[in-house]
Amino acid sequence: MAIPLLNLREQYLPMEAEILAEVKEIFRNQAFILGEKVEKLEHELEAYCNAGFACGVTSGSDALIIALMVEGIGPGDEVITSPFTFFATVGAIARVGAKPVFADVDLKTYNIDPARIEEKITPRTKAIIPVHIFGQCADMDPIMEIARKHGLTVIEDSAQAIGAECRGRRSGSMGDYGCFSFFPSKNLGCFGDGGAVTTSDPERAKKLKIFRNHGQCETYIHRYVGGNFRLDALQAAILSIKLRRLDQWTAARQQNAAEYARLFAGVEGITLPCEGESCTRHVYNQYTIRVADGRRDALKQFLNDRGIGCSIYYPVPLHLQECFAELGGKRGDCPVAEQLAQEVLSIPIYAESTSEMRQEVAGTIAGFMK
Ligand SMILES: *Cc1c(COP(=O)(O)O)cnc(C)c1O
Repeated sequence: MAIPLLNLREQYLPMEAEILAEVKEIFRNQAFILGEKVEKLEHELEAYCNAGFACGVTSGSDALIIALMVEGIGPGDEVITSPFTFFATVGAIARVGAKPVFADVDLKTYNIDPARIEEKITPRTKAIIPVHIFGQCADMDPIMEIARKHGLTVIEDSAQAIGAECRGRRSGSMGDYGCFSFFPSKNLGCFGDGGAVTTSDPERAKKLKIFRNHGQCETYIHRYVGGNFRLDALQAAILSIKLRRLDQWTAARQQNAAEYARLFAGVEGITLPCEGESCTRHVYNQYTIRVADGRRDALKQFLNDRGIGCSIYYPVPLHLQECFAELGGKRGDCPVAEQLAQEVLSIPIYAESTSEMRQEVAGTIAGFMK
């Protein structure tokens, strides 16, 4: 039995008629950029994320960039973030000309360790970007407390964590901004690139919408230099259809995670993902285990050879990426992130995967680890 890491076709087919009807309507109307479909989605996201305002943008990467731009963060500024994340988090900081500064992560949750943040603050620090990695929120209360104390902006990277909760609060509603990605493999994915920024501050919301459209306040009158960060109507319409099913998919992911926990009981050398104390809703964008004794790469090969999809998110921590060499990051700077990069392996967790698949995945891993 071939077991993919993700099967989006299976998710699509039951929605096909509904989606094609929306696509046809938009094609007939020939109104493709922003407009009422995007506004409708923005209101639905505001309700879902429990945030005052949502602004649809071109991608999760652009969501981070536009939030940094609205804050006026650029050359000479520093932004503290996690070294264990997808490249885009740190790429966004570099793209606006600011300097990424890394605070190491927690071994259990893989999220930024709030206890490592304050030592990284300098007079140049302007913001913190906690990343809610794999669908679990970073521990936001201490992060917000540090940010308020030092007058820093908090931009949540919620790309992997739509609907996740920290102490009962939704991802994207706790910081000054929440940045979401609708890349197809995220828990709420569109049919191309897409993203959104949430905020509960009406001034920031207004600026986000101006920056999204080249900083234009009235037609051809530009107060700021923004960019083209506009979400298109097709993606918004598809996302509205999918958002109605998101809670059901999330529940399936959580049940799948619970089943893995039972199946892996007693398997030595495997550490399962752990829900931290502050986590009240993990949405399992990934189910990421740790493999001991330097056996991760061999296990990955073993699974792939048997048709079982699995992937390493992420093999190189950001402080060791070649493109950031001039920042002077070296091995040993973030030992936990470096350990994770050697040990992590993500295995199939998607909503439509079956119990039979999970039994085969867990059984094959147990057989290898013996
Ligand atoms: C996917 C992702 C992004 C970027 O989103 P895109 O829509 O692919 O641009 C940013 N941060 C994290 C943590 C992500 O997983």
